[in-house]
Amino acid sequence: MREQILGLITPMMAIVFVVVFLVLWRRGRMGNYVLAFAASYLFFGFGFVATHVLDPGQWYVFHLTQLFYSLGSACAVWGAARRMGQRVSLGGLAIVYFLSAATLAVAVAMSPETEPRLHIVNSGYAVMFLMGTMAMLQAQRRTAIDTLVVVLFAVSSAQFLIRPVLTLLLAGGSEASVYRESIYYSVLSVAVTIQSLMTAVTLVGACLYDQIQAVREQAEIDGLTGLRTRRAFEQDVVELLEKAKQEYLPVSLVVADIDHFKAVNDVWGHQVGDQAIARFGEVIRGTIRDTDIAGRIGGEEFCILAWNCEEEAAGTMAERIRRKFAEAQIKGMPDDHRLTASFGAAGRGEGEGYGKLFARTDAALYRAKDTGRNRTVRDGDKQGAVVTPIKPETDERSDMREAIA
Ligand code: GH3
Ligand code: MG
Ligand code: MG
Repeated sequence: MREQILGLITPMMAIVFVVVFLVLWRRGRMGNYVLAFAASYLFFGFGFVATHVLDPGQWYVFHLTQLFYSLGSACAVWGAARRMGQRVSLGGLAIVYFLSAATLAVAVAMSPETEPRLHIVNSGYAVMFLMGTMAMLQAQRRTAIDTLVVVLFAVSSAQFLIRPVLTLLLAGGSEASVYRESIYYSVLSVAVTIQSLMTAVTLVGACLYDQIQAVREQAEIDGLTGLRTRRAFEQDVVELLEKAKQEYLPVSLVVADIDHFKAVNDVWGHQVGDQAIARFGEVIRGTIRDTDIAGRIGGEEFCILAWNCEEEAAGTMAERIRRKFAEAQIKGMPDDHRLTASFGAAGRGEGEGYGKLFARTDAALYRAKDTGRNRTVRDGDKQGAVVTPIKPETDERSDMREAIA
């Protein structure tokens, strides 16, 4: 009876997790690793049913169970590694399975005893989980939930190695049918069930976490440029300004606006305009440091917070972006045509908040526009623009500009 109940609970739980992972994968449009988790619990469920429904005296039962559990382990390991951007070799996992399957065949042929078989199959699963653990340990990212997944996979791996040893000590020498009836077997089944349950719940939690992150990222990242949206940028800036204040670090703001952009849309169309915005975002991302943050704060207006940076250095950074953009080719535009942008830069005054700092930076940008565009103006340079002229325009280029201006 005890065994029947256990035999029912586990596959039912497995089915629940299969459904949960399938729903997450399909409805949440999540990566294939979630599908791998669903497959994993499906195979574990089959394995469990095979152990409990089939006659343990039959030679093939061990092989069938091993096949299902190996498939389940391989899917879980592959999925967990993929989730963290790592790869576990499917060939490697297959080799582990075939080696242990071949050894199991020899053991089944040679002896009716359970221990050697348990050692063999469990060692195979242990190696697979170890491969997954090692792969995850190489991942760059490590959130709290990632660490929990790694720990649980490491525990699974250890458990597969320790379990046969315990079996040998506690139920040594018994045949498969006798072993199934032992108290030890029941305790072990419960322990394994609890551990699988914990792993399953953690994996569901990890998938939900990933989904929340993805939704948040979608809301915070501008699809066209890959920079922050205005709201996300402003939120982050407020936090960074506070941090800079506490650490007595200088920060500066740069605001940029593409020149004569309405004409770009008018002459080449909105799609080409979008290409130009995307290209500008690319130039910004490729120029700023990892500690700086940048956002698209309007149609073709951008803002950068330069971390640990005085106004002058921020102006130099703006100049670098300006030059790169002035040389960048934009998809859909004539090969020899280039766009330009104007920049304002201002260092943060003592205790200054985002509003005031932005207003000074924006005023500098408008002076850059007023004094001819395609230049950077620093707030501190009240007399006029800090201009670093780009290469003199060819006649052809100024003709083109006239055409769109
Ligand atoms: P200036 O040199 O003074 O900046 O002139 P401008 O023509 O660029 O003027 P402004 O900066 O005011 O132009 C903004 C234009 O950008 C208005 C709108 O048509 C266009 N725009 C805003 N958002 C988008 C967008 O997402 N895609 C495209 N293609 N155009 C946009
Ligand atoms: Mg503009
Ligand atoms: Mg504008």
